[in-house]
Amino acid sequence: MEFQIIVSNQIEEWEPRREDTLEFLDEEMRKVEATLADLKRRKDNLLKQTLVKCGWCGAESEIGQLTYIQTHWYEHPYSCTGGDRWHPGEGQWKCACGKRNRLFNKPGIEKLKRLFANVEDVYERSY
Ligand SMILES: [Zn+2]
Repeated sequence: MEFQIIVSNQIEEWEPRREDTLEFLDEEMRKVEATLADLKRRKDNLLKQTLVKCGWCGAESEIGQLTYIQTHWYEHPYSCTGGDRWHPGEGQWKCACGKRNRLFNKPGIEKLKRLFANVEDVYERSY
């Protein structure tokens, strides 16, 4: 009986299925990312229509049309190096009637800050 050693060249000839190539996966990921970006954009557009009501004149406005007023509060100096700096405070917005409204009574709206038309930083000392 004669034994023959067969050297397989299967591995060299093996080609991955297209679905298992890096090019395919990169392409699929680009598609998913494009879909995700589109969904986020559409969701943002809906959230920009979130209404806030002026406590002074009663008018309702979409946040996407408003300026978000980022207030800051001042921390007085203490000890040698402590304090003497500003901290972000509550969010507010200004109605077309000219009055400023606070956002604290509308839970979650401060998280939508980036969807306002503008953001204005305000530094006011209360003394
Ligand atoms: Zn108003």
